[in-house]
Order: sequence, then C-alpha cells, then structure tokens
Amino acid sequence: MRGRATSIIARASVVTVVAVAATYAVFLAARGFLGVPYTRLDLVECGLIPVVVGFPIASYVFLQLERLRAARDALSALNAEMQSAHRQLKVAHELMAYAASHDKMTGLPNRERFLDRLEDAHRNSEGDVLLIVDADHFKQINDRLGHLKGDDALVEIARAIRRSVREKDVVGRIGGEEFGVLLKDVDLAQAAETAERMRRAVEQIPWCAPNGLSRALTVSIGGAALRDHPAKVSDVLSRADRCLYAAKHSGRNCIAFKCSIGEVA
Ligand code: GH3
Ligand code: MG
Ligand code: MG
Repeated sequence: MRGRATSIIARASVVTVVAVAATYAVFLAARGFLGVPYTRLDLVECGLIPVVVGFPIASYVFLQLERLRAARDALSALNAEMQSAHRQLKVAHELMAYAASHDKMTGLPNRERFLDRLEDAHRNSEGDVLLIVDADHFKQINDRLGHLKGDDALVEIARAIRRSVREKDVVGRIGGEEFGVLLKDVDLAQAAETAERMRRAVEQIPWCAPNGLSRALTVSIGGAALRDHPAKVSDVLSRADRCLYAAKHSGRNCIAFKCSIGEVA
C-alpha cells in the first residue's frame, strides 16, 4: 500500500517536473519571439501553476490506473478460479454419467446403456449379431458358496466374455446373471464361432471354492442377427431370448442360434 503510494507520487512528480519545464520553454520562447518583456511574478506563476494543477491531476490519473490494474488482476484471478471450477464440474459430470451408465460390480455398461447401443445399431441397420449370455444354475452357486462368492463368479464371467470379443464389440450386464453382447459386423457363422469361444472361456475359468462344493462355471448363449428382424428391436431381443431358452432346454453350457421347434444348434 505504502509502496503503491510512493510509486504514484514519484510518477506524478516526474510528470509535474516535465510540465514545469515545458511551461517555461513555451513561455520564454513565446515572449522572446513576440519581444514582450516579463516580470519575476510571471516566472513564479510559470513554475507554480503546473505544480498546483498538474501534480494533483497526475496523481489522480496514476491512482486510477493502479485501481484499474488491481481490478484487472482480481478479474483474471476470478476467471482462473472459474475455469478450474468448470473443469472440476466437467470431470464430476463425466464421472456421474459413467456411474449412471455402468454396472459397479463388473464395470460393464448397464442394461439401459447396452439397450441404447443395441437400438442405435438396429436403427442404423448395422450387420451386427446380438448374444444373450446367461450363467447356468447360478442360484445353486449362491446357495452353496454364498452371495459374495457368487459376485466373484459374475466378475470372472464378465471378464471371460470381454476377453472373447473384439474391442469394438459391446458387452453389457443386462440382468443379474445375464449379459448382452453386440458383435459388430459379423454373420451368424462368425457369431457362432465367437459364442462358442466365449462358452469355452467361461468353462475354463479356474474356479473352485475352499469347501469343495464348487461346480464349474458355465453359461448358455442365445443369438440373433439384427438384419433378420428389421421391424422392431424387441424382435431381436425376443429371438435371442428364445434361443437362450432353447440352449437351456438342451442341457445348458451350449449355444443356440436357431430356436424354432427342432432347430436348436
Ligand atoms: P438357469 O441355468 O436356468 O439360468 O438357472 P439360474 O439359477 O442361473 O437362474 P435363476 O433365474 O433361477 O437364478 C438366478 C440367480 O442369479 C438368482 C440370483 O440370486 C442370482 N443373482 C442375480 N444377480 C446376482 C448378483 O449380483 N450377485 C449374485 N451373487 N447373485 C446374483
Ligand atoms: Mg441363469
Ligand atoms: Mg437369468
């Protein structure tokens, strides 16, 4: 504060000295040119007037300049704070959006998110195949080993499914022990190969409980091509569901893509 006042006075003094010198120069040049004599009082006035008028005005101007600078600094500090708050808000918003669309336990997209992706693919008439993957006899796993061990099993199954597909394929948890898989740009034969690889990957999960009551983890898989059901996305879901039911019916731990009577693959 004191430093600021000193700086203002110093700068105003410099301006005043320059004003006094300029006044004398103009005064003497004008009188010399016109040949008009001048008195001592004239000389005193030449020095006094710029001091009395110039110094307060210069001080006021420099003071206002300082205030403006301080206001500008405060404004940019506020702006930086606002930008940082905006960034934090954006991160929080992204985290919230992620949490709202993903299953906490497996980290996979949840049912709503998966169905959105399925609807998009169906609307754009993409050549994708939907798989519904359901853990077999999962109630028994819970009953025998406890719910927590059941949760571990679901996480392992989710990982095995994710490992069996490509980066661009979509995997979601669409029910308790049920997963949806959207295989991008494949025909039914390629989808069946992937589904079979997935089934084996789950079967091979190293899984045993300390009490010896465990049974191998297995899944049944039903599949349907989006292109075969262009009218409604719910038709694809029902078809894949019916195929899943057929896979369950034919003994579980298997895949089914054809599911009219006598058509189970
Ligand atoms: P199926 O082979 O016919 O599919 O038999 P299932 O026992 O798997 O099917 P059911 O629908 O009878 O039972 C599903 C079980 O999955 C019951 C439910 O407690 C369990 N489950 C669903 N969600 C979770 C979960 O988040 N954690 C655990 N541990 N169990 C779950
Ligand atoms: Mg089940
Ligand atoms: Mg189920």
